[in-house]
Order: sequence, then structure tokens, then C-alpha cells
Amino acid sequence: MRSSSKGNIFIISAASGTGKTTLVSRLTKHHDDIKVSVSHTTRQPREGEEHGKHYYFVDVPKFETLISESAFLEYAKVFDNYYGTSVEGVNILREQGYDVILEIDIQGAEQVRRVWPGACSIFILPPSFQALAERLVGRGTDSPEVIERRLGKARKEIEQAFMFDYVVVNNDLVEAEADLLSIIKSHRLKQSCQHLFIENLLENS
Ligand code: 5GP
Repeated sequence: MRSSSKGNIFIISAASGTGKTTLVSRLTKHHDDIKVSVSHTTRQPREGEEHGKHYYFVDVPKFETLISESAFLEYAKVFDNYYGTSVEGVNILREQGYDVILEIDIQGAEQVRRVWPGACSIFILPPSFQALAERLVGRGTDSPEVIERRLGKARKEIEQAFMFDYVVVNNDLVEAEADLLSIIKSHRLKQSCQHLFIENLLENS
């Protein structure tokens, strides 16, 4: 955690099955100055998922109330369920100096880019379409119909990679994690991300 400035926002998107969640979990496990924003969702928890850790699981009326209260930095409907990023949750982490990862879909990424042009956006690509199909089947969390839908959507999602600042190919987890970290480190060094540090330095000169 860096106390000299507020944390940065990193948007990480990918086609489903690209290993984004595994990659982000590894990164945050190894670097305690980076936190993932815990989203709200109306989808049912999968086995092993915990409320408040993986998602805040809420019902549709609650989610719609939160929308009407402008509680979300962005929100979107993905596969018939709502998903949203809490403004308050992100602000608390940033105020504490953490860099915050928003692991969100491309609709959400577009919204965040609009309201937060300084956010750094990263798209994770699979090494091939075949590898993507194999991973979706292999993780065994979705029904064949859902997998079919996800694959159909994947091509369209991958076309959106052109909208992102950086692209990481997840062929090897260790290498992809190192790539992500180097993007985060470079972004931190941008002049625009170091205003507070420069101002503090000048104030104390
Ligand atoms: P899953 O149901 O597999 O956890 O997530 C489905 C999709 O929703 C993934 O692409 C995931 O990144 C996206 N997602 C998760 N949280 C959010 C969020 O807060 N906002 C948006 N826009 N998408 C999200």
C-alpha cells in the first residue's frame, strides 16, 4: 500500500474462460497493495463462493434499489443477471491507497472509461479459440447450453480488445501474471498518477 497517493483503477476484462479470475487471484495473493473490488450480482452463488468475498449476492429488487441510489460506478446485465461495481467500495480502497482491480465485462469497462478516463484498461486474450473452448468445458461450472452461449459471445468480446490500453495473452499463468504486474507498475509511474507525490515533495522542499 502506498500512502502518498490515492490508488489507481485497473479495469480487467476478457472473454469468459480466459483464466481472468485465476490470474487476478494470483496477482492479489502475491501483491497485498492491489485489491479486487467485490461486485454485487443477482446471479446465484456457485459452489464455494462466499457472500462478501467473491460477490455480494443480492436479489433483483435490492440491485434495482442500488441502481436508483446511484450506488454503482458501472453496472450491466450479463447472461440475464445484473452485475455492478459499488462506488463506495472502490472509494474506500482507493482512499486507503490500494490499487483497485475491476474485474468486469466489456459493457462495464466502457462505462468506467467514460466516467474515469484515467483508469488503465487491460484485456486478457486466450492463446487460441480452441484453448478457450477447452477451458470452459474443463472448469465444469456451467451447463452445456451456458458454455455454448459463452463461446458465442466470446468472439464478439474479443473484438473489443481493440478498445483497451493493454492486451495480455494468457498462455502461461506465471508469464501472464508478470505481464499484468509490469503494466500496473508502469501505470503507477505515469506522471499523472504521481501528482500528490510531486506536490508533497515541493511542499516540503
Ligand atoms: P461470473 O458470473 O462468471 O462470475 O461473471 C460473468 C461476467 O460478469 C464476467 O465477465 C465478469 O467479469 C463480469 N462481472 C463481474 N462483476 C462485474 C461487475 O461488477 N460489473 C460488470 N459490468 N461485469 C462484471
